[in-house]
Amino acid sequence: MKEQNCDDQEVIERLNFIQQRIADDLTAGRNCGLVHTRFPPEPNGYLHIGHAKSICLNFGLARKFSGVCNLRFDDTNPSKEEVEYVDSIKEDVKWLGFDWGENEFFASDYFSRLYDYAIQLIEAGKAYVCDLTPVEIREYRGSLQEPGRNSPYRERSVAENLDLFTRMRSGEFADGSRVLRAKIDMASGNINLRDPVIYRIAHVKHHRTGDKWCIYPMYDFAHGLSDAIEGITHSICTLEFQDHRPLYDWFIEQLETPVKPQQIEFARLNLSFTVMSKRKLMQLVDENLVSGWNDPRLPTLSGLRRRGYTPAAIRNFCERIGVAKRNSMVDVALLEHAIREDLNQRAARYMAVLRPLKVVIENYPEGRIEELEAVNNPEDESMGRRRVPFARELYVEQDDFMEDAPKKFFRLTPGREVRLRYAYYIRCQRVEKDEQGVVTTVYCTYDPATRGGSSPDGRKVKSTLHWVAVKTAIPAEVRLYDRLFSDPEPAAEKDGEPFSKKINPDSLNVLENCQLEPALASVSAKQAVQFERLGYFILDEQDSRRDKPVFNRTVTLRDNWAKKSGARRAQPEKK
Ligand code: ATP
Ligand code: MG
Repeated sequence: MKEQNCDDQEVIERLNFIQQRIADDLTAGRNCGLVHTRFPPEPNGYLHIGHAKSICLNFGLARKFSGVCNLRFDDTNPSKEEVEYVDSIKEDVKWLGFDWGENEFFASDYFSRLYDYAIQLIEAGKAYVCDLTPVEIREYRGSLQEPGRNSPYRERSVAENLDLFTRMRSGEFADGSRVLRAKIDMASGNINLRDPVIYRIAHVKHHRTGDKWCIYPMYDFAHGLSDAIEGITHSICTLEFQDHRPLYDWFIEQLETPVKPQQIEFARLNLSFTVMSKRKLMQLVDENLVSGWNDPRLPTLSGLRRRGYTPAAIRNFCERIGVAKRNSMVDVALLEHAIREDLNQRAARYMAVLRPLKVVIENYPEGRIEELEAVNNPEDESMGRRRVPFARELYVEQDDFMEDAPKKFFRLTPGREVRLRYAYYIRCQRVEKDEQGVVTTVYCTYDPATRGGSSPDGRKVKSTLHWVAVKTAIPAEVRLYDRLFSDPEPAAEKDGEPFSKKINPDSLNVLENCQLEPALASVSAKQAVQFERLGYFILDEQDSRRDKPVFNRTVTLRDNWAKKSGARRAQPEKK
């Protein structure tokens, strides 16, 4: 495939293996030249970053090849599915920047057609009603080493099967008492082909079809046939379905379907220091180990959004990790790198003091407030400038001061001069302590000639501190997040310890007495901000109060990924 670059030279773009397959199909004129993909979530939980990979891939393929991508809810398991999840999935896909237009579907809309397909299989002698219990079915199935055994019900007549299946549907039998199975091959080397169950009885209300059905199709049966009903040409799924592909193809071959979709598998995204399966995420939520599905420490899209991740950063991350045929673990530092890169361009800079220490500038006039000019984003002059109030009493960070400092400590310490960002040079003269000997106030003098942060006599200082004027400061709560797990592969449970016991005790650090510069009063949860020297932050819409905003730290400024990979640091941390 060729694309034009800005110099109007032709550049050869490398296609990933799925794009290549589709390009080959188009060249060969298969599928009437159409490309139709789908993103098929089961509405049994919230979407996570792994789903984002699948969304970007499926919608991206449709976009690239001028095709269509459906959003299809694979809602065949009513006991675990809820409308809440359907709504959250739609919100998240939209937020990521993808639009399915009219193409919103539900597997449950096909229940009648799937039932008809099942009848066709029975009529063709390719499906039978089996009365073995679930345990017996498992026993008869055999193992990887041993072939399975035929069910004693395998040779039921078509008439008897039709009768029993119809009665299963009409609610005559109890849950688990009978199933419909495909009649394939109990000796197959592929266990998925050993007469898989295709319908089960479940007297459970469905969130869309209510009590209409008391039998529900199994995933393998419903999924491929839903693809076929929708005219999907390329059914992209994760590697664990590779062994199911012969079954996927078997159903499509046996039945008269509108199209014959092909299943293509790719490696799922695994991310270090987190868990991704919905079951595990749900456990964290249910056991109150996190505050909810949108806890900013979770890899859910709603959690990442609340944490301050942007759709662009997530899309870039998905693009960068690419599509592979082999499972691997992606370093979460790469995700953090992607958000830093995006926010470095986008986020306005502000000053905030998280652990305040009072500084009094003794030679600065009492009552005077001066407005000093500050740059909103050094990466983007068009973001303009703002005014920051400066006064005699300020807050600086506690850890920017040390009374008995080692030689290499260049920040505030008695006798040393430092720069206050956008303001003046100040020199520490003395301190005041409480009864426990803790420094409560640092007394300094300033040099009026250094306004704006440079000295006319060329005098240099070794560090620049951020600060906030006491009088105009806004009190705030700031939540510092770190990785949720201390183990890089919590889900592997290698040492026999369950993942839920591997939570990083420092994954959340709440600071309640932070002080912000006044301009931060008017930012919204849609605008990421940088607190100078501290990281990128976002207003927490859910917990902020008018008199006390809450900010979540999205990510620190220090880029471990760039350091590791030798790339340019997105934003060097100034200390
Ligand atoms: P989980 O395993 O996390 O519970 P799932 O596969 O059960 O997820 P589905 O709702 O069935 O979740 O997934 C919808 C689509 O997203 C499927 O096509 C699935 O293959 C894909 N998907 C799920 N997890 C990942 C992942 N980690 N990486 C890439 N794609 C994924
Ligand atoms: Mg699934």
